[in-house]
Amino acid sequence: MSQYDVIIIGAGPGGYVSAIRCAQLGLKTAVVEGRETLGGTCLNVGCIPSKALLHATHMLHEAEHNFADMGLKGKTPSVDWPQMKSYKSDVVGQNTGGIEFLFKKNKIDWIKGWASIPAAGKVQVGDDMHEAKNIVIASGSVPSSLPGVEIDEKIVVTSTGALELPKVPKKMVVIGAGVIGLELGSVYARLGSEVTVVEYMDAVCPGMDKDVQRTFKRILEKQGLKFIMGAAVQGVETTKSKAKVKYQPKKGGDEEVIDADVVLVATGRKPYAEGLGLDALGVKMTERGQIATDAQWRTNVPGVYAIGDVIEGPMLAHKAEDEGMAVAEVIAGKHGHVNYGVIPGVVYTTPEVATVGATEDALKAEGRKVKVGKFNFMGNARAKAVHQGEGFAKIIVDAETDRVLGAAIIGPAAGDMIHEICVAMEFGASAEDIALTCHAHPTYSEAVREAALACGDGPIHA
Ligand code: FAD
Repeated sequence: MSQYDVIIIGAGPGGYVSAIRCAQLGLKTAVVEGRETLGGTCLNVGCIPSKALLHATHMLHEAEHNFADMGLKGKTPSVDWPQMKSYKSDVVGQNTGGIEFLFKKNKIDWIKGWASIPAAGKVQVGDDMHEAKNIVIASGSVPSSLPGVEIDEKIVVTSTGALELPKVPKKMVVIGAGVIGLELGSVYARLGSEVTVVEYMDAVCPGMDKDVQRTFKRILEKQGLKFIMGAAVQGVETTKSKAKVKYQPKKGGDEEVIDADVVLVATGRKPYAEGLGLDALGVKMTERGQIATDAQWRTNVPGVYAIGDVIEGPMLAHKAEDEGMAVAEVIAGKHGHVNYGVIPGVVYTTPEVATVGATEDALKAEGRKVKVGKFNFMGNARAKAVHQGEGFAKIIVDAETDRVLGAAIIGPAAGDMIHEICVAMEFGASAEDIALTCHAHPTYSEAVREAALACGDGPIHA
């Protein structure tokens, strides 16, 4: 029997980051992971492989659409799909291997296998029992589906299957216009698939401001994605190599059918806590199947904590990482903190879409007096130079104090630029603070400054 200060269950961004912080704080730490490689959903079948495919297919798009215009003439590259997948696997391998290296460097034990918690302070993996003063559950999430839609990971696939399709489908139907559906839909549209996104709501990316949703959808349509909005999918029928997606228009009328070679079900993810024995242990769950925790990530069972996708909050890698670090500090007797009001969200399409804080629509619905500064990338020299003059940056501030309450950027490198706003929000900055900060020229970030100027006397280049 081995004894630890902390055993973490799951080596995703929540678990592995927590383990490294625990080790840095002098705690004897082990991580149990049942997958063959470390890194969880994010590194193996989520953030990283999807970004590799987005990058490769963006390069293809540039070659097809923009190279000739820039005087780069020659044969447009053709797609070697097995090679593109192998590039993606290499990227994944480098990253998962990197975590293994970090575990060794920080003297973290990787206990290979699937864990259960027979009692507080005990973790069972196979026939072995391990003891720990503290247990952190970071078991993550798995894709969810819809009634009447059976996943076979061949014709009807989740994001995991979509990353490994044997060939590029002629016709793909994506169920769900959320982040994962739009990112992977973009990948296949750029590879030449006819992509139709079927969405129950009337707008893409629920929760974003309406102007962001409209602009984003329009840009994706220009890139060839088709949308059927307000459509309730009733079921998917499959033959050996084809599928029929049946949906009911919400506004009424007959059931409609759309054909596909592959259907990607991107209707969200659900928390995963199976096999841990939480019922017998008496761990309280929320109505949505998440592990219930307090503000310090404690469950109701003393010594058992939970973080990441398996608890409440946005299912994002960086949210899981922040909780991982914070729970390590709590366990070490320090003060762990996560500011849930400043967690950015990014869609890694081209252009990228990034948001943080409150939305204009939500604040106005609350009756809060706000000012909005908006600047179009058409007025940004750098964006135009890279054929990305579409979209805008907008900053939402309190009308009286000018304090930044939220922002949305739809434009090049939006996912990186949003952090300027995040830092501003953490420091309680005003739009004027951003506007008075010198921004290098020519950068995309100038659009953020212009949006901040638009909250005051007005932007320069509009
Ligand atoms: P996970 O990463 O799910 O890791 C949990 C780990 O626990 C798994 O490896 C699992 O095998 C292991 N485990 C579970 N139970 C046990 C057990 N009993 N014993 C041992 N091991 C166990 N987020 C972003 O922020 N940015 C993105 O760009 C992004 N892109 C995504 C793209 C796709 C296609 C998908 C599917 C997700 C994406 N996400 C993205 C979401 C992100 O992957 C998750 O939010 C993140 O991985 C959650 O981290 P976690 O540590 O909570 O859990």
